[in-house]
Amino acid sequence: MSKINHECGIAAVFAKNKKENIIDKLIFLISALQHRGQDSCGIAYIEDNKIKNKTALGLIKDNFSNFNKKSYAAIAHTRYATVGSVDIKNAQPYYFSNVALCFNGTIFDSLKYKNILQNAGYNFDTNSDSEIILKWLFFKIGDDLSNWTPDKIRNILNNDFKDKAYSLLILLNDKIFAFKDVYSYRPLVFVETENEYCILSEDCLDNKNVIKKIELKNGQGLEINSRGYSFSKKAQNDNTKKCVFEIIYFASKKSNVFDLNVKEKRILLGELLAKDDNIQADIVVPVMNSGFWGAFGYSRERKIKLSFAIKNNKNILRTFIEKPKTRLNMVDDKYSIIDYKVKNKNVVVVDDSIVRGHTVKKISSLLKSAGAKSVHFRLFSPPIVNVCHWGVDISNRDELLAYKYKSKDNEIIEKLGVDSIKYISDELFYSVFDKNYWCSNCFKMN
Ligand code: SF4
Repeated sequence: MSKINHECGIAAVFAKNKKENIIDKLIFLISALQHRGQDSCGIAYIEDNKIKNKTALGLIKDNFSNFNKKSYAAIAHTRYATVGSVDIKNAQPYYFSNVALCFNGTIFDSLKYKNILQNAGYNFDTNSDSEIILKWLFFKIGDDLSNWTPDKIRNILNNDFKDKAYSLLILLNDKIFAFKDVYSYRPLVFVETENEYCILSEDCLDNKNVIKKIELKNGQGLEINSRGYSFSKKAQNDNTKKCVFEIIYFASKKSNVFDLNVKEKRILLGELLAKDDNIQADIVVPVMNSGFWGAFGYSRERKIKLSFAIKNNKNILRTFIEKPKTRLNMVDDKYSIIDYKVKNKNVVVVDDSIVRGHTVKKISSLLKSAGAKSVHFRLFSPPIVNVCHWGVDISNRDELLAYKYKSKDNEIIEKLGVDSIKYISDELFYSVFDKNYWCSNCFKMN
């Protein structure tokens, strides 16, 4: 994919024994979510009964490797900026008046809330949605933090932000709260281990020392304190709108998300794509990383050799996370081809999706220059033809290749320099992602 933008990673850890220091564990967990955003990062933690907050631009490893703090409860964030610029002032956790908040999502009509808050006398330090959410809670509940109960916060969020997509964490007094939006657009999982309670955007932990893992339900809240944890009621609706891109692209291939194993789902999608395809090919080549397990499934189903002919420059982070100005250059530098693997071969390339087509065009040209006889792109999601209002930065419809060229396949093939292109059929895709429970707005033409 070449690529769409989203995302943030959020994580929290609360020690069962308040004498334990959980900072290293939290840094380990938020680092495992680094793929969800690399603009900025931060940790808010309890020290001497006060909340301290440190934020920085860039990666966790560059800013928190020598973070010698001690705390029994802390929350962390790694940010991709969908709203607000890449600026230290927009880095999270956002801290205000003894409360820290980490937010993964978007409020698409945030100005509406901001205007109400400004009229009520609130000033704003940042351009981020996190500040709006936190100040909205102050506006609704007041400054006395003893009134900030999970049920009260949950009701405000579920009523006032019911059509928004988010997962969020709050650190206040000696508690951590977690909340998920009414339709469960974004994932959030609670994990109890022998020594800690954790909350994570993705379940990227192995099962060592794990006692239980519970994905939060839509509209549900969670409180962790020194007496343990408790979940509040979920929202009343049963239809969810989980974002399919969490599975097909955003999440680490090692994670479980929304109670599903990312790797297994990608393999299945690749197999389904293969069952519906009869192109003659000598090798199947994955676009790393998110295309890998789909390519594996395709190759296994069609019994065509899997070949790692595209090298991924590991120093170039995922292109979808970058801004348009730099994206093209990054796609240019990101891939190289191992020539002898593709020379005189008919090549099927498997990736998760196409957004603007930059990656497809570049890879196709590299493969042809390396001597490939033919290049056939296979995608395990349907064409992206619509924008996203729920935090994934597909904001300009005219940039989307499949929207621009509609069903003019010949023009797309010519523009991208490939010999053929084929997406998984709607029927097969929705046999995996039931429309009653998964958002698929970006695949809808109308
Ligand atoms: S529109 Fe697409 S990217 Fe946005 S939440 Fe829905 S499935 Fe995810």
